[in-house]
Amino acid sequence: MDARTWLTQLVGFDTTSRNSNLALIETVRDWLKRQGVQSWLAHNADGNKANLFATLPAADGSVQGGVVLSGHTDVVPVDGQVWDTDPFVLTEKDGRLYGRGSADMKGFIAASLALVPEFLAMPRKKPIHLAFSYDEEVGCVGAPVMLAELQGRGIKADGCVVGEPTGMQVVVAHKGINLFTCRVHGKAAHSSLTPDGCNAIEYAARLICRIRDIADAMKANGPYDKFYDVPFSTMTTNLIKGGIAVNTIPALCEFGYEFRNLPGMPADEIQAQVERYVREELLPRMQAEYADARIEIETGAAAPGMDASEDDAITQLARALTADRVTRKVAYATEAGLFHNVGIPTVVCGPGDIKQAHKPNEFIEVSQLADCEKFLRRLGQSL
Ligand SMILES: [Zn+2]
Repeated sequence: MDARTWLTQLVGFDTTSRNSNLALIETVRDWLKRQGVQSWLAHNADGNKANLFATLPAADGSVQGGVVLSGHTDVVPVDGQVWDTDPFVLTEKDGRLYGRGSADMKGFIAASLALVPEFLAMPRKKPIHLAFSYDEEVGCVGAPVMLAELQGRGIKADGCVVGEPTGMQVVVAHKGINLFTCRVHGKAAHSSLTPDGCNAIEYAARLICRIRDIADAMKANGPYDKFYDVPFSTMTTNLIKGGIAVNTIPALCEFGYEFRNLPGMPADEIQAQVERYVREELLPRMQAEYADARIEIETGAAAPGMDASEDDAITQLARALTADRVTRKVAYATEAGLFHNVGIPTVVCGPGDIKQAHKPNEFIEVSQLADCEKFLRRLGQSL
């Protein structure tokens, strides 16, 4: 099957992150089996989603080392978006293939699968591994399950290519992402009797202002990395709810914030500033009004940043295959940081444009798919 046929099939599975991806995963697993390639699946706790990992051994049968081709199988929702075509039917128009996930990132998976028969026929000295994950779009939830299994099985790889859409250019670094939900618990009272209550919204507001202060300090003082579009770590509050009536002092205020840290800036150091303020200033002040006041901060999805070395073999290989020498670092998170953190040097390089990702009428250029196949063929030959 060629890449376009694969992409047609992959887009046809509605693998929006809230859905099961098993139909897609099992189709790929069964097809690989027919090519003589064994896969293993690493499921989520509910058993309705899975990662797939498969190794195409080297000519001498060895399965250690080599390169991982990594992609996520889930896609973002189309809810509320107006599409000119059915988002789950790959549709060609003017050299573009339209469909949800065509760029982000079923195009890369399609090209990887299309190359499998060629990979198997090549007299490679090194294996090629396929690593297809679930739930990337909701905060890189699936890949850690696969990487734990990978380590448990003692599988080692020399490098990894995460095929997020970069226009087949080499991305060597991205920021981390960390999401939090904060619940401020005060005490309700009639709003005419303010000393009887403890106003959760007001204390949440103070914490939100402190979060902004931390963000401003990172903007003013760095650290900086000029290769990013936003060259410092960012932090922002993006959701809030609280209160039940305008004449009632609110007992609860809940808000969501995130930060995106440069790879050199540890996430726990940023979060520690929030927690210190809560512990040392905000909570004592609240509890002076109401002894049972409390503030909970729940850690949500998180994915580490990634900063590849130009000296890594995978970086040099990707640069050689693409003839791309430009240093590119991006603000969006990918699974690359997770591979990097288990000791697999990783770069991001895949077909399509990130600008198409998550939007209505997402598409991939036919030529990008072809460029990706060329890249993967040469990658296989280099092994
Ligand atoms: Zn993606």
